[in-house]
Amino acid sequence: MKRILVLTEVELPSDFPGQVEHYLDNLVTVEVRKTNFEGLKSQFRDVRRGQIKADELLDYLEPRVRNYEGFDKIVLVIDDDGYVQGLNFVFGVAKIGGSLALVFTKRLRGEQTLYHTRILKEVLHELGHSFGLDHCPNPRCVMYFSNTITDTDRKGPGFCERCIAKLHTLIR
Ligand SMILES: [Zn+2]
Ligand SMILES: [Zn+2]
Repeated sequence: MKRILVLTEVELPSDFPGQVEHYLDNLVTVEVRKTNFEGLKSQFRDVRRGQIKADELLDYLEPRVRNYEGFDKIVLVIDDDGYVQGLNFVFGVAKIGGSLALVFTKRLRGEQTLYHTRILKEVLHELGHSFGLDHCPNPRCVMYFSNTITDTDRKGPGFCERCIAKLHTLIR
């Protein structure tokens, strides 16, 4: 059983850990802790763009959180906007097979239930990458690449049959 720690700046519903576990077919256990990333955000903010340099933050933090308290994966839910070189913005970032995932919530905001569902989808998507999944061509699958928030609203939170089967071989 893989252990996932979600560190979040956004208040998440009490069933959030159970939701993540459910959509990952209970191959994982999830713990959520509320925190803030003010220091990190000011350190990695591109002042001109007003956004967080997501790839640089990921590269900086990944080796520092590896095996943190015995967790297999760490997810940071950052209440801000992120970008990577060459893209106007990203909803999240994670490396294929990495141990850290970042999710940025600024462009996910909306009515509360919708907001929480969007965060759930992006957390599952980035975790999918961290467990080794690539993007999926099925627009209903949570591993579909979201270019816009409309893509995010159409997909998931579930993994398609092919992706969930692959996850079972990847997670153990
Ligand atoms: Zn992706
Ligand atoms: Zn899929």
